Amino acid sequence: MEIPQAVERIIDTLETAGFEAYAVGGCVRDTLLGRTPEDWDITTSARPEQVKALFRRTIDTGIQHGTVTVLENRQGYEVTTYRIDGEYEDGRHPKSVEFTANLTEDLKRRDFTINAMAYSHKTGIVDEFGGMEDLKRGIIRCVGRAEDRFTEDALRILRAIRFSAQLGFDIEEETMAAVRQIAPNLVHVSKERIQVELTKLLKSPHPQRMSLVFETGIAAYVSDHFAEAGDPGMEGSGGSSRPRNFLTPEFSPEKAVRWAAFLRRLDGGKTEQILKELKLDNDTISRAKLLVSWWNRPLPPDKYEVRKAMSAMDAQMFDSLLEFRCASGTDTPEETETLKALAEEIRRDGDCISLKTLAVTGRDLIAAGEKPGPQIGERLARMLDEVLKNPEHNTKEYLLRF
Ligand code: ATP
Ligand code: MG
Repeated sequence: MEIPQAVERIIDTLETAGFEAYAVGGCVRDTLLGRTPEDWDITTSARPEQVKALFRRTIDTGIQHGTVTVLENRQGYEVTTYRIDGEYEDGRHPKSVEFTANLTEDLKRRDFTINAMAYSHKTGIVDEFGGMEDLKRGIIRCVGRAEDRFTEDALRILRAIRFSAQLGFDIEEETMAAVRQIAPNLVHVSKERIQVELTKLLKSPHPQRMSLVFETGIAAYVSDHFAEAGDPGMEGSGGSSRPRNFLTPEFSPEKAVRWAAFLRRLDGGKTEQILKELKLDNDTISRAKLLVSWWNRPLPPDKYEVRKAMSAMDAQMFDSLLEFRCASGTDTPEETETLKALAEEIRRDGDCISLKTLAVTGRDLIAAGEKPGPQIGERLARMLDEVLKNPEHNTKEYLLRF
């Protein structure tokens, strides 16, 4: 197995000092699958103070949980002491953690068999729970009794579904039964953590697996209006006039686009409410909201209409919107081409589609004798609309007379 030089160096340094050390978890899983790991985690028998003493640059990331970040070439690597999690108190966090000198104990606390393997050049793969076999067969299976593992930490329920979507794996039967049974414990998981998992799921190659969130009864615990978005797997069952399910792997993997695709049957207001409750960032919320409110509006192949749409959003957003409308069947590919060509012309000609490039400003209106107040904004909006109709009218002379 190939591991980055920096990881090799860290493991080597720890081993030379007499400790055990391994790459562990997601990075081992991803490397075995031929995927590029997002980050490399190292597990070691050394205590945090001992780790800190061995490396020049370290950060105390979670000392009480045994985690020290080692910096190598400005990259951070989390080095965590072998650990046994104590009693879980709130369905999410262990009351305490205990360090151990035994690798197997550390692997036992991990969520799924495919995430519970360790590797070092010295030892090779350490696989105590059949992770290799499950990786080969494409199966998500809890380490130990699924019901207990989900009861300890309900976030694992969502992780199971998210990994199934990312890897295209099936959830093993007993693990799946426990997902359904323990789903109500998701009330213990913070909205933000839920959102991170769902965003990963939506951005994955199998976003349709959002269906599992509905089938297993999890949807009710996600957010207030979440269930109203509807199970994406149930779509298109009746009548071919309905837009086809376009949460396909080829579709743009952008976060706002994927959320909008999933929430599109709701209105902009509900979309905003759900995404706010799930603590998504404001930029994503406003982009998703725009897509949800524009994806199935009439958009005739007319320059004024296209300028109006373009004036409501930035250029990148408008391109996403056209892609979205085409994928959802709102516009045919021919209609999309026509709209694209019109947008292209509008951009090439530099038509004014924003107050920023309107030839008149609020200051100009005041200089011309208008009183400061809300009517200034209204006047500017009417001027912009005039210019969207007739771009050649974007001159100070014309608009002040207008
Ligand atoms: P990715 O980084 O792609 O999200 P990952 O498996 O690396 O996936 P991390 O959150 O980075 O996930 O966690 C690293 C490892 O820590 C996991 O592979 C797993 O062994 C363990 N782990 C993480 N979260 C949990 C959890 N909630 N319960 C049990 N073990 C966990
Ligand atoms: Mg990881």
